[in-house]
This record gives sequence, structure tokens and C-alpha cells, in this order.
Amino acid sequence: MKKGILLFFTLLIFSCKPYKTATNNLEKTENTPPKLVVGIVVDQMRYDYLKKFYNKYGDGGFKRLMNKGFQLRNVHYNYIPTFTAVGHTSIYTGTTPNSHGIISNWWYDKYAKKGVYCVDDSNYKTVGAKSGGAKSPFRMLTTTVTDELKLAQNNRNKTISISIKDRSAILPGGHTANTAYWFQGGNDGKFITSSYYRDELPQWVKDFNALNKADDYLNQVWNTYFDINSYTESIADNNPFEGLFKGKKEPTFPYDLKELRKKNKNYSLIKKIPAGNTILVDFAQATIKGENLGKGNTTDFLAISFSSTDYVGHQFGVDSKELEDTYIRLDRELERLLNFLDENVGKNEYTLFLTADHAAVQVPAYLNKLKIPAGYFDMKKFKDFLYEKAKYHFGTSDIIENVSNLQIFFNREELKKQRLSVEEVSQKLVNDIITFDKVYKVVSATTLQNTNFTKGVLNCLQNGYNQKFSGDILVMPMPSTIIYSHTGSYQPRSYPFEFIKYFTT
Ligand SMILES: [Zn+2]
Repeated sequence: MKKGILLFFTLLIFSCKPYKTATNNLEKTENTPPKLVVGIVVDQMRYDYLKKFYNKYGDGGFKRLMNKGFQLRNVHYNYIPTFTAVGHTSIYTGTTPNSHGIISNWWYDKYAKKGVYCVDDSNYKTVGAKSGGAKSPFRMLTTTVTDELKLAQNNRNKTISISIKDRSAILPGGHTANTAYWFQGGNDGKFITSSYYRDELPQWVKDFNALNKADDYLNQVWNTYFDINSYTESIADNNPFEGLFKGKKEPTFPYDLKELRKKNKNYSLIKKIPAGNTILVDFAQATIKGENLGKGNTTDFLAISFSSTDYVGHQFGVDSKELEDTYIRLDRELERLLNFLDENVGKNEYTLFLTADHAAVQVPAYLNKLKIPAGYFDMKKFKDFLYEKAKYHFGTSDIIENVSNLQIFFNREELKKQRLSVEEVSQKLVNDIITFDKVYKVVSATTLQNTNFTKGVLNCLQNGYNQKFSGDILVMPMPSTIIYSHTGSYQPRSYPFEFIKYFTT
């Protein structure tokens, strides 16, 4: 694992081993390693959710970790962009995209001249369904803590990594995971894997899938866990800042899932409701039993990433009653998981940490309503502006090969043809781009290669910049500004700029 400073907003470390004195602690840690390490990532969890919903949590979930474990407060992300794949990889490798190479979820591959997804790998096949599993971690260039644990124990331990999202299972498991499993929605509704790990699902996974638990959850109605009137930590249930499920006229409780699944990609609906976290805890329990985790003479690793928190946050916003209910329910699921670990691995036999891959900003329209600066970055207008400037300066817009992830990739062949240098084109365009609406900073790759930024957002941008894979110009929007594209292309719906808020205010 490459060494690097990696700090997160939410990091709870919980060890069941009692610490008496510093000396005892050292002896105990060195002599009796845990039987199992459980790494938990909560997708899009903000640190303030620990405090905001504290009074709604039970004693055995978040509160148990907060009050009986260790908490790292006042820590920050040190790279841009904080997308899911980047966050998971940074947590588990202990380094940033600059070294680990996972620069986004999707990015433009300037060698293959096409968009690539972080874990797609056509060398492998889906195991357990017809599609959704041709994947591997090959684009991640460094080792993970899970890899290092394998190396340290001569590959005698087990690593299993699970999530609803494929990337959130594959990347934490590292290169050496015994298996990573993720949930295949659509008409499958099963946990699947890739032939990178194995050629057939083990019997315990087949048995789990045969239980059709997703059906049980999707035949219910999603209502609030407590009386909705007690949800004073969030804004009105019906507000204009929420997205709608297809077939629903208003974004309000109750949600008739049996009805909604018909128009919302069937089993994929479970990703977007709290039951996505519930079925993952069910699967985590089946994993611990099926793989006998924590029962050997070495330290096993179980990586769990809860994705439904992210889907709910994207659809309803961070101040919604739906999001509050999702965290209240996740807290109960954590309690169920911890109790299961106590009983099946042993109260003093496992170490667990909980963190987040990124956070989220409030819905910009809502912030605007409160007169707080925020907004939407118009990607279509930006591209038009860029092409026009390229034409003006260099007579052709063909020098721009791709614009994605707020990075601009030049067409090297065209530059050669026009006898233009990367430096010359970069500088001219950088000077123009900064004038575009909602652009906060813009920097060329040349500058990032020649300068050592040691603090602030430019340091984050530098840590997120990978000379091998990143573009020629990097653009940052204003604080609390997200990308909104009318074209429906693969632009990520949000560019999480929470870190800007923390660094600049
Ligand atoms: Zn995420």
C-alpha cells in the first residue's frame, strides 16, 4: 500500500478488544490480531448525519460505534473528484488518484479513444446472471489494505467484498479478493460476481439468491420508521427539490413498492430504497456464515459498502424525509450486523471501521431559495463556448477531442497537423475558460506537472490529477455548483463540491 495522507470526514474505528493501558494495548494488538476486520463504507454519508439524527438512532448502531469506539473529527478529503470509485479506492489504497489511477467512475481513455468504466473488463464473464459481471479491478494500479493483509499472511486469509454497486465491491477487495459480490438489478435481483474471481457461484450464494429476499422487500410499502411528524431534522415531505419515481405524482410517503417496481426497472428499485441496505446486511450475514469468516488462524477481511444511501441522496436530496428515514433504518441494520458479529465471530474478536466515500451538497435550488450561492453548471453551453474559443484562436475546434469529468482532452494528431503545442493551446484556453459562468478555477495539466501545490483546492486537484490518464485542462465549478446536462449523456449528475465549502469558508 502506497503511503499517503488520506483523511475522511467520517471515520469511526471500533474494536471489541478492551484497551487497558498503552502497554497492554500494544502487547494485545501485536500478539492477538483480530479474527476479522470489517470495513464499512456508507456511500454519500456526511459527517453531520451522526449528529443530526443522533436522537433518532438506537443504542446498538451508530451510537455504539461513536461512544465505544474512536472517532476522527475535523478531517478532510484531499483529492478531487470525490466520486464513488475514487472514494472507495482512496480509502482502501491509502493514496489518491495521482497514484492509484482511478480518476473517476467513468472517464475518457485517451489511448483507446473511448469512454471507460472503472471496473469493466471484457476479459472476464458474468457469473450468476446473463450480464453485469464482466469486471475486474485491473485499472487500479496500487495495492489495497486488503491486498497487503493477504501478502502479510501469505495469502492464507480470506477477503470477501460486498455491495449493491459493482465498483464499491470490486475496488475495496483489491486485486487479491477471494470474491467480490454485487447486486444485479433489472429482472435478475441476485448477487453476482465476475469470472475474475471464480467460475461459479458458491452454494451458499446460490442458496441466498434462491430465497428471493428482494421480492419480499419489494412487495412491501416503504413508510417512515417513526411517525413522519417527528422527522423535524428534515424539510417538508413534499418539496420542489426532490426527484420522482416513475409512476409517482408527488415525492411523498408512502411508497407502494409493489406498484413502483413495475415502472422502475423491477429489482433495480431496491437500490434506491432503504431495503437495499437491509438485503446487504442479510447477504453480509450469509457471507460470514458461508465463508466461515473469522474462524481460521489468520485475519480475514469483510468489506461492506452500503450504496442505497447514495441513491436516496441523489434522488431526494440531503434534507429530505426520505434520506432521514434511510439513515434511521441503516442505524438499525448496523445494530443487526454488530449483534450478528458479536454472536458469530465473538465480541472480542473483530475490528470494524466505518467511513464514507464522499458526502453531498444540498440541492442548489434549495440553497438559492435561502439566498446561499449555489448553482448548476451548463455543460452544453460550456462545450459550445470552448469550441468557439478554439476556432477563434486556432481556426478549428477539432483540437478538442473530448470534454468529460470537467477535463478537456486535446487531439494530439490535430495539434501536430496545425503545428500547435500543448502549452500554447492550454494557456490561451485557460485564460478564456475562467471567464465562463460558474467556473471557479481552471488549470492546465502543464501547470500541475510543473508546480507543487501544497494546500487548498489546487492541492486537491493535483492529488486527483494523473499524468497518464487525466486531461490537458482541468476545470472546477463554483462552490455548491453541480453539473446539470440537458443532453442526457453520461455526465455524472452531481459533482460533489462539499470540500470546496469547507476549504473556502
Ligand atoms: Zn459514492
